[in-house]
Amino acid sequence: MAATGRSSWNVVKISPATHPLVLGTAGELESYDPATGELVATVATSGISDVDDAIDRAAARVRRSPWRNDGALRARVLFRWAARMRENSEWLAELLTREQGKTLGQARGEVASSISMIEYNAGLARAIYGRSIALKEGVHGVVLREPVGVIAAITPWNYPLNLTIRAVAPALAAGNAVVVKPASLTPAIVAAAMSLLDHEDLPADIAAVVVGPGGTVGDRLVTHPDVDMIAFTGDSSTGINVMKSAADGLKRVSLELGGKSPNIVFADADMEKALAGAENAIFSAAGQICTAGSRLLVEESIKDEFVGRLAERAEAMRVGDGLDPSSEMGPVVSAEQKRTVLDYIEIGRSEGTIIAGGEAMESGAHANGHFVRPTIVADLPSTSRLVAEEVFGPVLAVQPFADEDEAIAIANSSEFGLACGLWTNDLNRTWRMGRAIESGTIWINTYHHFYGETEVGGFKRSGIGRQQGIEGLLEFTETKHLNFDSNPNLF
Ligand code: NDP
Repeated sequence: MAATGRSSWNVVKISPATHPLVLGTAGELESYDPATGELVATVATSGISDVDDAIDRAAARVRRSPWRNDGALRARVLFRWAARMRENSEWLAELLTREQGKTLGQARGEVASSISMIEYNAGLARAIYGRSIALKEGVHGVVLREPVGVIAAITPWNYPLNLTIRAVAPALAAGNAVVVKPASLTPAIVAAAMSLLDHEDLPADIAAVVVGPGGTVGDRLVTHPDVDMIAFTGDSSTGINVMKSAADGLKRVSLELGGKSPNIVFADADMEKALAGAENAIFSAAGQICTAGSRLLVEESIKDEFVGRLAERAEAMRVGDGLDPSSEMGPVVSAEQKRTVLDYIEIGRSEGTIIAGGEAMESGAHANGHFVRPTIVADLPSTSRLVAEEVFGPVLAVQPFADEDEAIAIANSSEFGLACGLWTNDLNRTWRMGRAIESGTIWINTYHHFYGETEVGGFKRSGIGRQQGIEGLLEFTETKHLNFDSNPNLF
């Protein structure tokens, strides 16, 4: 690749000997750079016996450890983890770009927001209050928040660090033990970051990482009788299967799943800001974001101008190696993902009109990576799979609308309900639309801004439960009522 920021790279080797939180005796998994095909890391993989070992140890320890009751200890451990992440942030960002493909700028942002998420939950660890109430003369109720127990965190490859930490940090802050299973495409960044948690203050067996296929290692986590809760982030169909398997053990589940999010632009919007927002909404991280604004709903009166200008921006985007500082969009994560994305583009070609992109980039500097041009497709029937299904790639479907009611109807016609963007300068409309749209997050005149303090999660097929914010932490607690009666007689 010409003029990249690539320097030599020592293949990262992660094994129980060097990274004791990683339990793996079943072999090694290799991960490869989606921009170049180079080997990035090898990570020890876990067999069923390693998974059982991690769960058995966590279950034996978590209910008897000071971890459960000592919020100050948990805060200290989490703040130290954040500090160690910060010390290693540049290396973590480079590993993330090399293993996942996103640009270095995006990887730095993911590392920074992960650190922020740990710090937010570290603060909350000392503030998990219950409630008390006088119920009648001599009778009091005390409602406690207790840790759930052993949490299995199963996470995807697109924001591997952030989405792992988004589950692990609140689970630990609430006093649980956690066993993490990262996606098989991005095990090294997760194992490396989790290992920075390892410190003498962290009680033994409270955190572990197991690596291996979802169908075996992941399934064992979901079905093991001593796992109390599964925090799953991934594809909706996988999430549904996880929920079915968890149902046998009546386990608690938190599901953060897919999306087909509408990004709605009204004629009265600030056009420049909305254009930048629409570009970011779909092409950031090559569209591999659960909240990607993958449906552009644009008011008919500005459709031609807006879509035309967005197409110019898409054509001008510099697609390349994430380590090249000039790259604005990296590759998609794997050859398989590239095939999936190209298949959806073919649907767009046969059912609609390709306005920008529409092909892979396979020559010259792009020859060894999984690059797809930023693609915009218009004139699609509402029944098109490209309108209905999550592509998880840089492909935008355009859906014009005539008025507010039609915009709401189109936005809500999806089986997903994860996120939505609204671009308008009409304050009353933002309230009407904000209330009418079925979605866990609605960004108004912005897109893709996440904060540790505010909850995220899905309506409909996009999931169950909330992550981030105070609700995100309380998901990892059980509610218990202690009832005190000081009266001399029972009744
Ligand atoms: P998958 O559902 O394929 O995988 C997610 C995780 O589940 C991986 O660790 C995977 O392991 C594991 N897994 C797979 N099968 C099973 C099983 N039977 N039992 C237990 N675990 C299993 O998703 P992707 O990794 O492909 O991620 C992309 C998806 O994630 C998209 O749909 C995206 O929308 C969604 N997502 C949702 C987010 C949200 O907050 N709502 C955020 C980010 C992504 P393995 O890798 O070994 O297959």
